[in-house]
Amino acid sequence: MNQHCQPTTCRCTARWSDLVVHLEGHGDQPVLPATSRGPTAHLYDARCRTCGARYRHPWRLAPRPNEQL
Ligand SMILES: [Zn+2]
Repeated sequence: MNQHCQPTTCRCTARWSDLVVHLEGHGDQPVLPATSRGPTAHLYDARCRTCGARYRHPWRLAPRPNEQL
């Protein structure tokens, strides 16, 4: 992995408006900014789906409307 050269600043008009995280076996999952890191966020960095910038701040998985938690 050679991630240190990836940009960490979103260059989109609406910054960090479309965050995803790539999870093994699940593909890209939508995530939302959060105030603290959950267990999954400790393991993965989210990124902007549009420009690919790494989101190095707390996030959480977005709730799925069709799924009972
Ligand atoms: Zn972006």
